[in-house]
Amino acid sequence: MMQQLKIRTRAEAKSLNLARYYTGKHCINNHLCERTTSSGACTICDREHKLNWRLNNIVKQRECEQNYKAKFPRIRDERMNLATPKWAHKCVLSIDHIVPISGITPNGDRVSGLNVPWNLQIISFENNLKKGNRMTERCYRIACSLQHEI
Ligand SMILES: [Zn+2]
Repeated sequence: MMQQLKIRTRAEAKSLNLARYYTGKHCINNHLCERTTSSGACTICDREHKLNWRLNNIVKQRECEQNYKAKFPRIRDERMNLATPKWAHKCVLSIDHIVPISGITPNGDRVSGLNVPWNLQIISFENNLKKGNRMTERCYRIACSLQHEI
């Protein structure tokens, strides 16, 4: 389930066509995690940057979606709108993998969850963005305690 990351250079990662690599060194913001091969950026810094951008532009994104839907209305969308109470339009939910399909434990180890119903949960879109591909501390502790029972 979990494996140690192999230390590589960005050049090695590029030659192996890897999307990410691990240097074993802290980034400028003191994160000890993988780097993105294309940019060399720390994956946590990169994710935080993207999350901030999306959170700062969520209204803009939704406006674009609404404009597109207004321009190209579909019967299904109309039915969905009729079936959704007004208060529910403000609550944006998403389906999250409790153990990420390709993620990181709180210890920085890689983890691979399954795409099965019992590994899914409904959480707010914002919390799903914040969680990203990380396994929560609570989920990690539960998984570790189950491993000891086997
Ligand atoms: Zn970082």
